[in-house]
Amino acid sequence: MKRILVSGGAGFLGSHLCERLLNEGNEVLCVDNLFTGRKVNVHHLMDNKRFEFLRHDVTFPLFVEVDQIYNLACPASPIHYQFDPVQTTKTSVIGAINMLGLAKRLKIRILQASTSEVYGDPEIHPQPESYKGSVNTIGIRACYDEGKRCAETLFFDYHRQHKVDIKVMRIFNTYGQRMHPNDGRVVSNFIMQALRGEDITIFGDGMQTRSFCYVDDLIEGMYRLMNSRPGFTGPVNIGNPGEFTMLELAEKVLQITGSKSKLKFLPLPQDDPMQRQPVIDLAKKELGWEPKVQLEEGLTKTIAYFKHAIS
Ligand code: NAD
Ligand code: UDP
Ligand code: UDP
Repeated sequence: MKRILVSGGAGFLGSHLCERLLNEGNEVLCVDNLFTGRKVNVHHLMDNKRFEFLRHDVTFPLFVEVDQIYNLACPASPIHYQFDPVQTTKTSVIGAINMLGLAKRLKIRILQASTSEVYGDPEIHPQPESYKGSVNTIGIRACYDEGKRCAETLFFDYHRQHKVDIKVMRIFNTYGQRMHPNDGRVVSNFIMQALRGEDITIFGDGMQTRSFCYVDDLIEGMYRLMNSRPGFTGPVNIGNPGEFTMLELAEKVLQITGSKSKLKFLPLPQDDPMQRQPVIDLAKKELGWEPKVQLEEGLTKTIAYFKHAIS
């Protein structure tokens, strides 16, 4: 049994991770400032004696005793990370420094939840880990993208300079139950709009693509990476290579919900990446991991969750 710190543990992915780690018999210290996370996400874990919730902002130092750290604290949806962009960069950069300082003092392993956004609006398709990315440093997405890029730099410098045992994971768009209904991300937006009979908001012409990973697959990849062989640091892509346009996604959501919602075309936000698909050869080779849940099955489960959540 290990005592494991999960920063951002009350968020969408963090809450699933806390649950998984408890199921494996560990103690979990969930650290979250509840900016985008919600206590209700971990409400069902509160009675577990091996679970502890600590309201804390990772931009401040934290002195606790743990055996492992998963660093997930950071808003992930554009509307949330653009709400207070300076705080977003601080969370990624200063948050990483504090979590790495903690890992260094305790001589423990630490995993960083990085993102496919480090590739920006990619000129190479699909994206292998060796692609260095194309990010507009002064655009409205940069607070997130550059914060995450700098966090990766800090992870590798703490590894080289202080021998910290690191694992870096580049997460591609993930969806599933416990996404906030008003999170603003495309999957939750389309499902909520379809269920309420509202117009489906397509940004731009809807021909931009994303590759969507179901949350259970993602958590399995994250767990395997944390427990991978010593010396394997990543970065490693974790995502589902199935690539869809936003129009295709809207069609699928309309078909599964049976909704009569109409499509409404709105302007494309600045710097919105046109395409995104992971190369997952490294995850297959090092972690024996590949996604199992394809989009239709994952959407069906997610739609059932949202129906229940809003009823
Ligand atoms: P989320 O917004 O649901 O969760 C983020 C959590 O971090 C929230 O609980 C929030 O309250 C907490 N948080 C934010 N700032 C904090 C701070 N300063 N101190 C402490 N806690 C703070 O988002 P998510 O989808 O669960 O994302 C989790 C992690 O995975 C993030 O680091 C995100 O960048 C990364 N990621 C997610 C996706 C995805 O598609 N879901 C894709 C790429 C990367
Ligand atoms: N830190 C922390 N908890 C710890 C150890 C360090 O929050 O248990 C913070 C510490 O406040 C510092 C940061 O992590 O700001 C980086 O620590 P490091 O030891 O690398 O740097 P230094 O303290 O030498 O500036
Ligand atoms: N998008 C959309 N309608 C929405 C929300 C998002 O068409 O209501 C588009 C958005 O412009 C982007 C894609 O869907 O091209 C994915 O957006 P999301 O915010 O989910 O993730 P990210 O852009 O960070 O990959």
